[in-house]
Amino acid sequence: MFSTQELSDSPREECGVFGIYDFSGEEQVALTIYYGLLALQHRGQESCGIAVSDTDGPKGAVRSRRGMGLVNENFNAESLEGLKGNIGVGHVRYSTAGQSTIENAQPLVLNYIKGTLALAHNGNLVNAPELKRELARTGAIFQTTIDSEIIAYHVARARVDTTSVEEAVSRAMDKLKGAYSLVIMSPRKLIGARDPFGFRPLCIGKRGKAYILASETCALDAIGAEYVRDVEPGEIVTISPRFGIHSDRSHCIRSSKTARCVFEYIYFGRPDSEIDHVSVYNSRILAGKYLAMDSPVDADLVIGVPESGNIAALGFSMASGIPYGQGFYKNSYIGRTFIKPRQHARESAVQVKLNPLRPAVEGKRIVMVDDSIVRGTTSDRIVRMLRDAGATEVHMRVSSPPFLYPCYFGTDIPDREQLIAFGRDVEEIRSIIGADSLAYLSIDRLAELTGGLPICNGCFTGRYPVQPPTEDIRGSYDK
Ligand code: SF4
Repeated sequence: MFSTQELSDSPREECGVFGIYDFSGEEQVALTIYYGLLALQHRGQESCGIAVSDTDGPKGAVRSRRGMGLVNENFNAESLEGLKGNIGVGHVRYSTAGQSTIENAQPLVLNYIKGTLALAHNGNLVNAPELKRELARTGAIFQTTIDSEIIAYHVARARVDTTSVEEAVSRAMDKLKGAYSLVIMSPRKLIGARDPFGFRPLCIGKRGKAYILASETCALDAIGAEYVRDVEPGEIVTISPRFGIHSDRSHCIRSSKTARCVFEYIYFGRPDSEIDHVSVYNSRILAGKYLAMDSPVDADLVIGVPESGNIAALGFSMASGIPYGQGFYKNSYIGRTFIKPRQHARESAVQVKLNPLRPAVEGKRIVMVDDSIVRGTTSDRIVRMLRDAGATEVHMRVSSPPFLYPCYFGTDIPDREQLIAFGRDVEEIRSIIGADSLAYLSIDRLAELTGGLPICNGCFTGRYPVQPPTEDIRGSYDK
């Protein structure tokens, strides 16, 4: 069995987080978290969880449920009914190979001297091994192999000699290096924190007397909440009835030094989300327009590789005047896993999921737009499928630059040796995938996708905003 996501050659996001605090005390928040997580399901499909508490109840009383698989496979009306409380956090997770276990599912719930903490994390720390050794030397025993537990421990330790949980989060942040968007539930407060570079998104919403924290604004839309603003890179927000939203910006760095993951805009984020007030949809349209302007081609039809290439393909069409159309039927009913076909396994596995629309492409010169090529394991088959369906030419356009370096900040872009662009020029890649022409988005265009907001582009340039780890932690400290 294997995930249908393995049929895609795009990198994978590793988590989505959600939190809510209903000041009125009337709402049972578990159902809202469930809908929020459904909206964030694209950020992780391997495990999920919800933890809730009652701010008027005993301090240690957290009800939680975690499971492997999709949100709607793990929760139903009855299980949600059992999660009573007016404050809660939720999580969806994708992990790299070998670490997909229930122990590593989140939210993590930690009992300690001041009560109970529940924590949900998106990102990856680059100094997890050092921080783990520091804890282990003083007797900590770990239940998981995720760096989120290291964060939880550091917050809990700091809480013992600080006056508030937000101060403990701030103290822990002094030590954390790398990417993290956190949602933390303490017995009486909901806390959101974003690393100083702002690698991963985190936004604030409001519905009636409830405040919400979520990875993306699409989760706010799903529950009928208004988008208040984003948690700023480096900011800690504390949500409580006494202070409303209280902000600590002591970890914020100069705005020009921040470094949002540009791939959130190109691929990870849902197109109906805004990240730091920049529309993901508009970023993708722009990427397609730039491709058309910088790498034009004579063709009859522009198509996207569904779903992630569709919007950039539309942008290409808008700028080039070449009609946009659907070139593939995508089977959305396969489910999360399915049995790998035995004969001609690799080809069939792609074709079960994606089939060209012969009447649309036959006899035509096609521009095919995709968001990225990582290993190059599917592009050649997709190009061949189009030719077999009668396309006379296939020109591939990619709405990101070539991946040349791995990512250490919460995505699964692998080592250089596995990247098709490593050690090859564009012509060599074109020849491997069998397209008539191939062009990538230029690196200079990336910054324009976010309207000038500073971005991380480390996987394209090798220039990372944070020093990469000396020990390769990917796979050992999953998120
Ligand atoms: S290295 Fe690439 S994928 Fe990783 S955070 Fe930076 S831009 Fe995003």
